[in-house]
Amino acid sequence: MKFIFADSLDYVDPAFDFLADRSPAERQPYWDDAYPHEIMGYAPYDGVLVSRGIVGDHRVKGKYTASQARRFGLVGARKFLRLDKPQFAHLDIFGDCGAFTYAGEEKPPYTASEMAEFYDECRFTHGCSVDHIIFDFDARLTGLDGGTQDAKARFDITLENADAFWREAHAIGAAFTPLGVVQGWSPGSMAEAARRLVAMGYDYLALGGMVPLKSPDIKLCLEAIRDAVPWTTKLHILGFAKADDIDSFHSYDIASFDTTSPLIRAFKDAKQNYYLPGDGLGLRYFTSIRVPQAIENPKLQRAVRRGTFRAEELVRLETAALGSLRAFDQGGASVEDALHNVLVYSAALVEEKPYADCSDSPALRKLAERYRATLTERPWKQCGCAICNAASIDVIIFRGSNRNKRRGIHNLAVYKNHIERLDLKRAVKRPSSIPLDLCAAEQ
Ligand SMILES: [Zn+2]
Repeated sequence: MKFIFADSLDYVDPAFDFLADRSPAERQPYWDDAYPHEIMGYAPYDGVLVSRGIVGDHRVKGKYTASQARRFGLVGARKFLRLDKPQFAHLDIFGDCGAFTYAGEEKPPYTASEMAEFYDECRFTHGCSVDHIIFDFDARLTGLDGGTQDAKARFDITLENADAFWREAHAIGAAFTPLGVVQGWSPGSMAEAARRLVAMGYDYLALGGMVPLKSPDIKLCLEAIRDAVPWTTKLHILGFAKADDIDSFHSYDIASFDTTSPLIRAFKDAKQNYYLPGDGLGLRYFTSIRVPQAIENPKLQRAVRRGTFRAEELVRLETAALGSLRAFDQGGASVEDALHNVLVYSAALVEEKPYADCSDSPALRKLAERYRATLTERPWKQCGCAICNAASIDVIIFRGSNRNKRRGIHNLAVYKNHIERLDLKRAVKRPSSIPLDLCAAEQ
């Protein structure tokens, strides 16, 4: 099972100075920055997915600057992502349209033939057909029952585009593997879409629209699709947000999936921000310690304007929190000392009150419990990756993109290792499970 990382320019500055809290003045974004596979010294994924909508153009505003988008088209995906070294030659580069970027439009802004040309010219290894997201979902519907007029229109657009995309890819002798995207409003309609895609000639399908679905609903869709297509048809899940749940999906024989989830959770999740391998085959999570910049944080600035805090006072609390965390890391302060200084600063952030007035608040008590677990366990000392070795406690401090994305990249590496251990477990079990799977497929 391949873990494909969906990139949106997720690089960090290797020369970032944690003590001074800044990059060198002469830093050139992108050129001086390091992608996860550069800062880690190896690729913490089996491939990268780039969405056309993230690259952007005159129609869809992407994340790339105009000159980055131009260069991507000029030098191709592999060179742009700096995956053009021999040690990265085995990595896949998937492309999709980024249907979420134009979900509100009546039709996708790209044609099947221009996407086939884009993937081919930028030398992607895999390219997804032009899909249109369907937002409705009803797990109880079978066959083509139900579905709003809008959902049905999007279903037809997605399949018409897939048909044109397949023919175009063959007409231009494309070197990439075409994937037909499945969109539907129910397990039944998705199974029907999958069946039609296989009839067009596709042997690799990508399931779209899975982002908002819960794991049990995704499984119903996979079950229905698996029943409708030959067991040799490969399946990819686009935007698999339930990545940590992947072990429970193994019976659906997923060939690949893409996600950003381990990276994003480093700074978007309320408590599970730092991953470590757990006992057995699980993962363990730790809460990162929030020490935002006093002069930049909107909530703290509001407290200053309201007169609850003076700006200098907040800067003093911030410095004390950071200082005691570093002292703790070097053995010069206890867990409780570091925790106290962090909580005094957190009170301004969480309760917008001085610590003395709210030290017993439920929110602060909950935070104290999570932070104490993180500090007591010192997870960054238990990881041997290049990031944790170099950044030490800064990797667990929730503060600015250079720390937060480093933590996310560390998570990618732990996650990649997690997937490999799960695959290994399955490989050991495989001799007895294959005949069962074959029986199930033939029924
Ligand atoms: Zn690490």
